[in-house]
Amino acid sequence: MIPPPGTEFSTRPSAIKKIGAAEIQILWSDGHMSTYRASYLRRHCRCALCVDELTGRPRLVPETIPEDLTILSVELVGQYALHFQWSDGHSTGIYPFAQLRALCPCEHCANALREDRSEGPLDATARE
Ligand SMILES: [Zn+2]
Ligand SMILES: [Zn+2]
Repeated sequence: MIPPPGTEFSTRPSAIKKIGAAEIQILWSDGHMSTYRASYLRRHCRCALCVDELTGRPRLVPETIPEDLTILSVELVGQYALHFQWSDGHSTGIYPFAQLRALCPCEHCANALREDRSEGPLDATARE
């Protein structure tokens, strides 16, 4: 379920559920459901250890994250983010809901993102 271009995706979760040890499912308030693998989210960690704070360059080598990484614990940070403890010992990353929604790996969102990129400016502040 994708809103027409120009409308904001909901970044408010109405339900968050761990599925087994290696997946988490978020139901957004607009009815969209996102399912993330632990290894996928871990590779998108934006903490200071994983992304260079000054340059924004990734410091994390995605291949070093095992495919079978699991979630030891997940907790809410205020009302805006999730904090995970991963089975590789990493736990410094905070995932704001807006980032999680943007990371939704489902086919619809992946396609929508590709269209956004090819069709030009959606958000003037994101451009130089
Ligand atoms: Zn990190
Ligand atoms: Zn999606």
